[in-house]
Amino acid sequence: MKIAIIGTGYVGLVSGTCFAETGIQVTCVDIDHAKIDQLNQGFVPIYEPGLERMVNTNLEKGRLSFSANIQESIAGCEAIFIAVGTPPGEDGSADLRHVLTVAGNIGKYLEEYAVIITKSTVPINTAEKVRETIAEELLKRKVDIPFDVASNPEFLKEGAAINDFLKPDRIIIGTDSKRAEKIIHRLYKPFLLNGHPVISMDIRSAEMTKYAANAILATKISFMNDIANLCEIVGADINMVRRGIGSDPRIGNKFIYAGAGYGGSCFPKDVKALIKTGEDYQKPLRILQAVEAVNEEQKLVIAQKVKAHFNHNLNGKRIAIWGLSFKPETDDMREAPSLSIINTLSDAGATLRAYDPVAMKSAKNIMGQKVTFCDDRYEALIDADGLVLITEWSEFRIPNYRVMDKLMKEKVIFDGRNIYDSEEMQEYGFTYYSIGRPAVKPEES
Ligand code: NAD
Repeated sequence: MKIAIIGTGYVGLVSGTCFAETGIQVTCVDIDHAKIDQLNQGFVPIYEPGLERMVNTNLEKGRLSFSANIQESIAGCEAIFIAVGTPPGEDGSADLRHVLTVAGNIGKYLEEYAVIITKSTVPINTAEKVRETIAEELLKRKVDIPFDVASNPEFLKEGAAINDFLKPDRIIIGTDSKRAEKIIHRLYKPFLLNGHPVISMDIRSAEMTKYAANAILATKISFMNDIANLCEIVGADINMVRRGIGSDPRIGNKFIYAGAGYGGSCFPKDVKALIKTGEDYQKPLRILQAVEAVNEEQKLVIAQKVKAHFNHNLNGKRIAIWGLSFKPETDDMREAPSLSIINTLSDAGATLRAYDPVAMKSAKNIMGQKVTFCDDRYEALIDADGLVLITEWSEFRIPNYRVMDKLMKEKVIFDGRNIYDSEEMQEYGFTYYSIGRPAVKPEES
């Protein structure tokens, strides 16, 4: 079986590589020629654990190839996935420019039956637009080539993308064609040995499922952040509250961690796009509007704590930053809370020295001169007046407090992810601020 994946970013590259792993012949296509050249040499331009090795194995076995030529790549394919970006447009709606450009190109070059599958996160009715766009091109060519469209939203998590793809919780197939459903089902069969379901539905429901999934996860995060801020005021501890409610299976213990707000390439743009869909259909989504507003404020909470600690004067203060990516195990900086925090602290006059295990290359392109990038976590602490922890990479969880003691000018930590134990911080002589928990000062000796 031969398939093509158009768009070779986080989703396209992981999907293509995982499909190739099952023996299918996969071509990943992109308009970014430099990226295609890199990939053909076995170099993976994103950080995703385990991906580079898998890409190289499948390249060597000849099952996976990379191309900038869509015409050659879709020839003889039974399934063509669209996995290009759907960034937010100016009004918050998903920008479908890339998706529809790809659909147009497929229409220009399709020669025999294929199912065209949108894997990009797209608003309701996009598969229909894809169908219309392809049909228009076929009409221009005066050819009558049968094809189907389908929606197959992707639920992988960056940082755990391969495992998520190889062992999915569920596969959603939205289509009105039995033939298309059968092809997609066949493609995913090797990944479903764990018994998790394929859920077939109509196209609109599949498109909505992806947005609803991300929206509810974002809602859980903003809800906990809202409660966390109230906890601080009333003298409660959000970590205790989290454990208290998370043990109830109706609530569950995932995605209820208070922190510096959600970021990344998906939640912010998908929440925005769903709000816009609600507006378009005169059905305002008030809960989601609040989720977004809470998140915007939450990204600034830790920076406000820094400012308050230094009496709103950060001139001459040297602040260390641990973690830049929007979450651990990725180099993705899109909508990372670190961007808002760093901008706020830098605008207030602080000198910033940052370290992140993998995201510094992507961060440098965005942050430029605002930050000095350091080679390791302790270098960032030299003469620091404080440390702000933004991304909870494993290597930050148990640092050597004695080394920190020697390096830092003032022993104060602002923990944007609540990873440290307040009592322990106090014992080691730190002033410690976190989210939704009382601040602690060093024990009097
Ligand atoms: P990305 O920005 O990493 O990659 C998109 C790729 O598409 C880029 O390499 C770009 O050059 C390429 N592209 C753009 N126009 C093209 C064209 N006309 N022809 C060929 N290639 C083209 O995006 P991503 O993070 O992989 O996300 C892709 C889609 O999947 C989005 O809709 C996103 O919301 C969704 N999604 C992402 C994730 C995630 O974790 N990143 C998870 C689930 C769903």
